[in-house]
Amino acid sequence: MSHQNAQEVLESIFGYNQFRGPQQDVVEHLAQGGDALVLMPTGGGKSLCYQIPALLRPGLAIVVSPLIALMQNQVEALQQLGVEAAFLNSSLQADEAYQLQQRILSGDIKILYVAPERLMLSSFLSLLDEVQAHIGLALFAIDEAHCVSQWGHDFRPEYRQLTILHERFPDVPRVALTATADAPTRAEIIERLNLEHARQFISSFDRPNIRYRIVLKNNARQQLEQFLETEHPNDAGIVYCLSRRKVDETAAWLQSRGWNALPYHAGLDAATREKHQRQFLREEGIIMVATIAFGMGIDKPNVRFVAHLDLPKSMESYYQETGRAGRDGLQANAWMAYGLGDVVSMRQMLDSGDAPEERKRVERQKLDALLGFCEATGCRHQGILRYFGEAHPGDCAQCDNCLTPPDTWNATEAARMALSCVYRTGQRFGTGHLIDILIGKVTPQVERFNHQQVSTFGIGKQYSVAQWSSVFRQLAASGLLEVDIAAYGGLRLTEAARPVLRGECEVWQRQDPTPAGNRMSKAERSSRAKEAFAGAQDDPLWQALRA
Ligand code: ADP
Ligand code: MG
Repeated sequence: MSHQNAQEVLESIFGYNQFRGPQQDVVEHLAQGGDALVLMPTGGGKSLCYQIPALLRPGLAIVVSPLIALMQNQVEALQQLGVEAAFLNSSLQADEAYQLQQRILSGDIKILYVAPERLMLSSFLSLLDEVQAHIGLALFAIDEAHCVSQWGHDFRPEYRQLTILHERFPDVPRVALTATADAPTRAEIIERLNLEHARQFISSFDRPNIRYRIVLKNNARQQLEQFLETEHPNDAGIVYCLSRRKVDETAAWLQSRGWNALPYHAGLDAATREKHQRQFLREEGIIMVATIAFGMGIDKPNVRFVAHLDLPKSMESYYQETGRAGRDGLQANAWMAYGLGDVVSMRQMLDSGDAPEERKRVERQKLDALLGFCEATGCRHQGILRYFGEAHPGDCAQCDNCLTPPDTWNATEAARMALSCVYRTGQRFGTGHLIDILIGKVTPQVERFNHQQVSTFGIGKQYSVAQWSSVFRQLAASGLLEVDIAAYGGLRLTEAARPVLRGECEVWQRQDPTPAGNRMSKAERSSRAKEAFAGAQDDPLWQALRA
């Protein structure tokens, strides 16, 4: 397949002049029949990576996609471009599905979007046999491939069965695509989908035009308004809150202050949601105050800011949500007010849920990674990319930490104690146990492993548990320690830890503000957690943990 053809399709059908990032390489590789794994940030242009080869290759292309709404949007967009596309999911009536099947068998359809549970039905697999025999299968595209990962927030058990496709149709090229790029997820996708031999296309996750800023919360509304007044008096943006009630209250308050704000959450009726979404997309300068129900599939290029009044639940969420700003490549702001009290509520939510202990542990680690990032003193762009396993060349010179370096203390001694404690206990324990050893607390686990005998036992009594927690989080966020999620969350040293242990360099950490949560009574903490839990109705994670 010549690359001339790919370029022609790009121009004549999609109306673009140029491929972006790795698109062209992916298209050519697939058009020639290769398998691929594509990691590209949200908005990077993953769809074209399979849509163009689908058009270049003979036969029907099958696209597996987890969300009905996304499927419908994509199919409508393709139809408007004159591409014969259709979707097959539970929203179709039996007779509609039957008609579609006839169109497929007569070769009328070029790209078919299918829900994963539909794909596994034996009736559908027999249909594919027939297609294969008479029309041919162009390729299988597995979109949002991170849904195979049981550690992710979007785990879909049906994705696990997608290897059937490969077993049944070994000669049809496959491509898996995702915006979730951390190393464990990537490894899991490759393993679960049998993509060991697929070529990997990884594009940078850096968003150089986004300016990240994280402030400590004292009066969030006032802080938000000041941010809006000084930097975004007339701009479109999104303000994220955890609960529906807070969305309603914040939107009403902003309106009362003369701002052009609208609420959006899953508790509003469909008509209102659609109206607000349309206004946001079409009118200028609307501030959408929303829960995470807002955002998936929203493609508005000139969102100038994303503000968080509550902590997202992980680095992935933070990256996804802030990533909705500045899609047009122009300067945009990601602003967050972060309160240690919120962290305490979130922890409590995690702990009090009925989810399996294993799941809670993973979520706790994800929250800790985000927290470590909040506390970090280094460049935010570097912090984000490090989390996704990518290096960033130098400081960005525009994030909060680069512009105004935070107050720090010389944590070299504490860091050495922490790192050597990790080392002396075999690099397989989590923060809680390591802190017990450092402060010299005898727990059943300490006794079981005979860790009173370790040379770091009790050497860190001068710091509180909260201080040690912060030290560990910051060591992880700055890349001196790494968490092995698959191996029960044990902490391991990285190469970067060696010079610290050898006394060759110093470690400076952010002054740890006293966590507000520590001053709260237990009852107060748990009632705050309950409230937060009940409020987070739009977040499937919190709801799943509670269930
Ligand atoms: P992803 O699935 O990676 O989040 P999409 O495939 O939905 O991203 O694409 C995001 C936006 O970028 C869409 O509006 C799409 O039309 C646009 N886009 C993709 N590729 C190109 C390109 N080569 N030139 C211009 N715009 C593009
Ligand atoms: Mg996509």
